[in-house]
Amino acid sequence: MKFNTKTIHGGQENTDPAYGSVMQPIYQTSTYSQTSPGQHKGFEYSRSGNPTRSGLEQALASIENGKHGLAFGSGLAAIDAVLKMLKPGDEVVSTSDLYGGTYRLFNSIFKGFGIKFHFVGMQDSEAIEKYINPKTKLIWAETPSNPLMNITDISALSEVAKKHKILLAVDNTFATAYLQKPLDLGADIVMHSATKYLGGHSDLVLGSLVVNDEKLAEQLYFIQKASGGIPGPMDCFLVLRGIKTLHLRMQRHSENGRAVAEFLKSHPKVENLYWPGLEDHPNHEIAKRQMKDFGGMVSFTTKGNSKQNAIRFVEKLKIFTLAESLGGVESLAGHPATMTHASIPKSEREKLGVVDSLIRLSVGIEDEEDLLKDLEQALA
Ligand SMILES: *Cc1c(COP(=O)(O)O)cnc(C)c1O
Repeated sequence: MKFNTKTIHGGQENTDPAYGSVMQPIYQTSTYSQTSPGQHKGFEYSRSGNPTRSGLEQALASIENGKHGLAFGSGLAAIDAVLKMLKPGDEVVSTSDLYGGTYRLFNSIFKGFGIKFHFVGMQDSEAIEKYINPKTKLIWAETPSNPLMNITDISALSEVAKKHKILLAVDNTFATAYLQKPLDLGADIVMHSATKYLGGHSDLVLGSLVVNDEKLAEQLYFIQKASGGIPGPMDCFLVLRGIKTLHLRMQRHSENGRAVAEFLKSHPKVENLYWPGLEDHPNHEIAKRQMKDFGGMVSFTTKGNSKQNAIRFVEKLKIFTLAESLGGVESLAGHPATMTHASIPKSEREKLGVVDSLIRLSVGIEDEEDLLKDLEQALA
């Protein structure tokens, strides 16, 4: 199957054994009857497995061209499961401009358990080798990164990981499998906050992992069951439904993202613009090589670098809603310094470019003309 067909049919049984339901039923149950101890139909207790979740996990694996999918109660619960494969003393090399919550999980939880993190810019994949030593077990990459849309060359990174026999995990939340397939490019683990584009309608919180390697999958399924960070069946159903239109939505997000980026680029009040589809984006060539299109996430700063102006701008927007999160059908605007990235110390943040005037847009799938008019009036 090709990608658009996979979003609808990938990993899905087309006959429900009970009633022939075309959609995956929501098995809202914690447990399953057994005819004799140990005699059951493959499910015993919903922490270790639930048919609605299995349907989603198979769909996730299918669209990422992977063999094994796992769903979690949130994106961070998925990352938490990956980090639980490590032991005290192990080291991780991670993208420096990272989703704030991932940074908090690494730095405030796992650092305390004796894991050492190196936060480095990964635009130059060779430069990361100096952070790798025999204790290094994992490279954690986010591309495009949040909120500065930096691009990491996944193939080049996977060569570094293979050379040193360490795992490469890629947070694919911003791109989704529609735009980029990290496993095909050599990554070992692909992670998603399905809360964003996979769900696509801002109505749930869920996370996922997809891997190819059998042993790695076993280890992660064990952690999923043993730690219990699982999603409920209703949310699994909603993500499964979201995935069925992923290709249509991502196509429109990318078209509108381009229109917004081009509009902002030519606007006299805009200073810096971050969107990997721009030819003068520092890693545009790599983005072009590893992504099908460039998506709907656009960040920018205004001239004068004033926090007050940035806050007034987001308050004035009418169609863009001022809110955390991204990837829904509706357009959202955020102020990273006070919202998504507030947990990163100001000095650290500014070193990365997350200055007080930075604004992040999640461009939705409304009419382009309405979105541009809204930005125009708020900038005015
Ligand atoms: C939102 C997000 C996460 C965390 O996911 P939750 O579902 O909110 O736990 C991780 N990475 C990226 C890039 C995100 O945008």
